[in-house]
Amino acid sequence: MSMNVLVFGAHPDDADLGVGGILAKLGAADYKVCIADLTAGEMASRGTVEERRKEAQEAAERLGVETRVCLELPDGNVANVESQRQQVLACIRQFQPTYIIAPMTPDRHPDHGAAHALIRDANFLAGLPKIETGHPPHRANRLFYYHPYHSIGEAPTFVVDISETYTQKVDALKAFASQLHNPNYAGAETYVSSKAFWEAIEIRARYWGQRIGVVYGEPLYTDLPLGVNLPWLT
Ligand SMILES: [Zn+2]
Repeated sequence: MSMNVLVFGAHPDDADLGVGGILAKLGAADYKVCIADLTAGEMASRGTVEERRKEAQEAAERLGVETRVCLELPDGNVANVESQRQQVLACIRQFQPTYIIAPMTPDRHPDHGAAHALIRDANFLAGLPKIETGHPPHRANRLFYYHPYHSIGEAPTFVVDISETYTQKVDALKAFASQLHNPNYAGAETYVSSKAFWEAIEIRARYWGQRIGVVYGEPLYTDLPLGVNLPWLT
């Protein structure tokens, strides 16, 4: 199964929060996109694993994503160790992506920072033929990184205009009824489920949009410089 883009999140709503607008845009352009959640989010203060799985599938459908899988790594204990690299490597080989989008570091959640190094290294190793799995060796050409919500550290490499897909992103995020702000859900209030967090989603999108002269934007980071062809991008 060959995908144009494989997007990793440490938890079932990370990819949607960080790059939901970009994924909706890629889906609309007929890119085949797969979201791979590293963990099922079993350490969350709200929502069961089953609830979260259903919510994540619904969000993926609303974004126009081809498929969504979960690697079942331990929530709260994502680490760049051999056993977890093997699982991520096998996932990369299964989906054969041209591009990978993964969490950026540093980040206040240890799983996000660990996922960054884990996926970067697994992608390199996935190209080594002497490591045998059930699928042929494959290494994505390029990795892009995102922060699920806190943009800390260096400035992003570039910002994508998501003005056209911002409402689709918000609609997808509403599928996470147990996680994000939802007065109808009875559960312990957390930072992520607070009204302030929900409002900050729009504030961030508007901030990054303003930085590139559009309404809504999502920032991405790269390890390597980005080549640009003339005429210049707008
Ligand atoms: Zn997360």
